[in-house]
Amino acid sequence: MEIKEIYCSNCKKKLGTYNEKYFSDARLNEIIVHNHAKCIREGHDVIILRP
Ligand SMILES: [Zn+2]
Repeated sequence: MEIKEIYCSNCKKKLGTYNEKYFSDARLNEIIVHNHAKCIREGHDVIILRP
């Protein structure tokens, strides 16, 4: 299974793992905005990784 991870470089923490098949980058960006608003508000660098 191809996966993508949402990772915060400031918290140095993996915020979630998603199946690439079902989650486009646009969808993941929505998830970042909605679920990880705290990191975004604090100006953290939240990125999408393909490990
Ligand atoms: Zn963070």
